[in-house]
Amino acid sequence: MTRVLLATRNAKKLTELQRILDHALGPQRIQLVGLADVEQYQEVPETGLTFGENALLKAREGVRWTNLPTIADDSGLAVDALNGMPGVFSARWSGRHGDDRANLELVLAQIGDVPDEHRGAAFVCAVALVLPGGKEHLVDGRQPGRLLRAPRGEGGFGYDPIFLGDRQDRTNAELSPAEKDAISHRGKALRAMAKVIAKALPEPGRP
Ligand code: IMP
Repeated sequence: MTRVLLATRNAKKLTELQRILDHALGPQRIQLVGLADVEQYQEVPETGLTFGENALLKAREGVRWTNLPTIADDSGLAVDALNGMPGVFSARWSGRHGDDRANLELVLAQIGDVPDEHRGAAFVCAVALVLPGGKEHLVDGRQPGRLLRAPRGEGGFGYDPIFLGDRQDRTNAELSPAEKDAISHRGKALRAMAKVIAKALPEPGRP
């Protein structure tokens, strides 16, 4: 089985990607390892100005430490009326990293007087794969939609309660995890990455 590092400490992301890879490539093909299994790992700061740059930064660092093929992702919300922000600052928009509620409230306040027709937004996710030889692959996924004026739903995380995807009548926070996976930025990017992996990391013994 080919071992691949997923440069995250988030156990949920590890399980999600392993499930997608097993489904796309067959079980017993890729074994994902998370950062919790890499001793003394120092995560690189996310200093890029795009999701792709940040995903590549993290994946390159994973290869440097472990010499394993490494996957990393970066994602966030791009709001039309804020010229694509919070973007790469989505997790720390209010100034407090990971304070989902404060981040969401700030975005709502900032676009409080923006009319409905201009409340477009998209979740965006970039996923990078870097190989020990230095080869780099980058894919992305988008979920287009618009922002409501008040939160709805208890599921998901981050900006999900104020995000209504195109052709949806429920916010992302009102969808089941499987429903969200099927249409989300991350689901799309990870499924695209599964195809890249199938080509970039051929099964041992196969051309
Ligand atoms: P990360 O790429 O997992 O670090 O996510 C960065 C930030 O973007 C999160 O803290 C959330 O604020 C936001 N975000 C990313 N994906 C989602 C999502 O699927 N739903 C809601 N918010 C998200």
